[in-house]
Amino acid sequence: MKRPRKPDELCVALDEISGSGHHLSCRKHPGWVAESLHEEKSIDCGFAEDIRIGLDFFKTGKTVIVRGTIATTLQLRCVRCLEDFTLPLAAAFSYNLLPEEERELPQEMEIPREEFEASYYSGTLIDLAPLVLEQIVLHIPMHPLCRDSCRGICQHCGADLNRAPCRCADDEGTVSPFSALKNFTPKQKT
Ligand SMILES: [Zn+2]
Ligand SMILES: [Zn+2]
Repeated sequence: MKRPRKPDELCVALDEISGSGHHLSCRKHPGWVAESLHEEKSIDCGFAEDIRIGLDFFKTGKTVIVRGTIATTLQLRCVRCLEDFTLPLAAAFSYNLLPEEERELPQEMEIPREEFEASYYSGTLIDLAPLVLEQIVLHIPMHPLCRDSCRGICQHCGADLNRAPCRCADDEGTVSPFSALKNFTPKQKT
């Protein structure tokens, strides 16, 4: 038996959205994303502070327009030097939500389905948590770098090259990129 999800702060009832719109703001604790994603998706990132969410709702006909902002600080590990670092996340987004019934509309629509980006709601309660989670996941860098110029770790000795250069490069210096030219004697003009 499927239990209906417990409505939380990110749920809004359709009739709450009046002509002048509806505003909702809330904070989620740093563990909220991992808890809410369950096994659907794992994220390689933590949160250094609460996640602040602001949402504005407007209704035109049956369509609900949601504009939102998300602000927090990500806790990441650099893929090059393996040091932890933080990165501010600030996302702004908007979605058009259509009632579930509209999904089954005949295909004679003028706009091709793929170009018509919309999400759907069913019933009279809209749960924004999936959209907020989607936005957060989209903003987590796939290959986090503490900075673009991160030098990473030496493959040979494991030294953190951001702190100081190691001696490995010196040892390799004997293999100069020009060594191939060593035996090259320019053809002499006669
Ligand atoms: Zn780094
Ligand atoms: Zn080294």
